[in-house]
Amino acid sequence: MSGPKTKREISDYLRSKKITPTAQRVEMAAVLLAKPQHLTAEEIYQMINEEFEVASRATIYNNLHLFVNVGLLKTLNVSPTLCVYDSNLNDHFHIIDEESGEVFDINMNKELLASLVKQMAKSAKNPKGDSYHLQLKQLVFRGKKSEI
Ligand SMILES: [Zn+2]
Repeated sequence: MSGPKTKREISDYLRSKKITPTAQRVEMAAVLLAKPQHLTAEEIYQMINEEFEVASRATIYNNLHLFVNVGLLKTLNVSPTLCVYDSNLNDHFHIIDEESGEVFDINMNKELLASLVKQMAKSAKNPKGDSYHLQLKQLVFRGKKSEI
């Protein structure tokens, strides 16, 4: 992923998303967009506070919300009670390690995905029989490490 790197590029990027680039938001975006990663709000709070000790939890959480709303981050529900923020905005899917809880990105073949969506669309009907136009938004696999 080649995103904005310098503080100036990050500020411009935030402005392009109609976000006022406060020092704290620029700091947050710098940490989050540095590489593709999946972080909980608490992990982000810890990371930001290592550099930026005045950040309150509420401000960080509000900024995360804002970033998600403008499409700067995606959310992923790892479990019913745990959501992570994903900085990889390219189409991709996930594997969750059931033992460690770690989340990994997987890139999938586009033709395979298109064919999967086409197949699903054929049987996508509600109980009244209405059809749906489907879009694949998230695909999550869970598994344990295999020994082989
Ligand atoms: Zn991801």
